[in-house]
Amino acid sequence: MDFSLTEQQTMFRDMVRDFSAKEIAPIAEQMDHDNAMPDELVDKMRANGFFGLAFPEQYGGLGVDTTTYGLVVEELSAASAGVAVMVTVHNSVGSYPVSMFGSEEIKNEVLPRMAAGEIAAFCVTEPNAGSDASAMTTTATRDGDDYLINGSKIFVTNGARAQFYVVLARTPGTTGHESLHAFLLERSAEGLSIGKKEDKMGLRASDTVTVDFDNVRVPASRRLGEEGDGFKVAMKALDGGRIGIAFQALGIGRACLEASVKYAGQRIAFGRKLWHIETIRDKFADMASRLHAARLVAMEAAFLKDAGKPYSREAAMAKLLASEAASDVADEAVQIHGGYGYTKDYAVERYYRDVRVTRIYEGTSEIQRLVIARSVIRELG
Ligand SMILES: Cc1cc2nc3c(=O)[nH]c(=O)nc-3n(C[C@H](O)[C@H](O)[C@H](O)COP(=O)(O)OP(=O)(O)OC[C@H]3O[C@@H](n4cnc5c(N)ncnc54)[C@H](O)[C@@H]3O)c2cc1C
Repeated sequence: MDFSLTEQQTMFRDMVRDFSAKEIAPIAEQMDHDNAMPDELVDKMRANGFFGLAFPEQYGGLGVDTTTYGLVVEELSAASAGVAVMVTVHNSVGSYPVSMFGSEEIKNEVLPRMAAGEIAAFCVTEPNAGSDASAMTTTATRDGDDYLINGSKIFVTNGARAQFYVVLARTPGTTGHESLHAFLLERSAEGLSIGKKEDKMGLRASDTVTVDFDNVRVPASRRLGEEGDGFKVAMKALDGGRIGIAFQALGIGRACLEASVKYAGQRIAFGRKLWHIETIRDKFADMASRLHAARLVAMEAAFLKDAGKPYSREAAMAKLLASEAASDVADEAVQIHGGYGYTKDYAVERYYRDVRVTRIYEGTSEIQRLVIARSVIRELG
């Protein structure tokens, strides 16, 4: 595996770094404060192809490889993790199910629209079913050539802005994974409504809402995969999504390290810059080393995905390692900033809140460990 970036990867990274510095970083604090993202920013991102990143060129996307995609997510996350999650959910869990499990007809109709910026959301979590997706109760009742969807999904990223919703639902009266089906619904579907918007600790630029389904009719042609494939669709989508979340964590972690080094170069304690205090230097060494190690695993997961090799275990490892490293790095960043780090005058306060969710969504750290352990036992047991 060659770790040097290609010309195209470098170009994308620099382009997004530039875009983030001009368009996102200056309003990141305001978005955090407002608990919202301006439509103008979304329009600019649409115009710059952010919603077509991971879509094949034949469907109007940019067709970038997973490493490039990761670098883009990292750059966005270093400026605003809330903006980044909108892009990752759209380019991964919101659309992979269509590109991997949709019929040719759905792909031809829907993927160009998604790539052009009609935003996608992924609806799995319910009030009583998160890590344990098999506990979900949203139903899909067959009615001739259609299904009727009833239930509620919570914590839906992009839910308020989306045009498309990948939704998991089960045959009424059943339990377990086998009777889960995946569907693609559109915003205009009668009976689909947007409910409560979460007032979150972090990622406040991103909308996270409840989506309710009241007898929403969806044609069987909009089912993704076969009947009973729902769980498989979600798990495959999450494998890819986790690579994006790993890069999101790395972006926040890098921003923490950069802010800390800069701050320590200005802050004087005991007559010298913090730079010259051994304990602070040790922190820098640990922060940089842990982020670097996690980055290598994330790059490997991206490489395996693009090479068409199994990558589920590596994606789980990448998310686990990157989210835990970045969380610790954010904690140290606040520590290095002292009391100022605990105020909104410094961005590390936001990074500290933003990074927390990377250990929760798209599978908690505990669930990543279950995935990794299962794979290790299968291989070595
Ligand atoms: C900002 C944000 C955005 C989100 N976006 C989306 C989205 O777009 N779409 C979507 O469907 N969901 C989304 N989610 C939901 C997210 O994926 C879930 O919150 C997550 O999967 C955990 O589920 P839960 O909250 O129900 O926690 P629970 O499953 O109730 O877990 C509670 C605790 O128990 C632990 N636990 C549970 N089971 C086990 C086990 N078997 N072994 C060990 N520990 C266990 C968990 O790790 C956790 O620590 C989002 C959440 C947030 C906060």
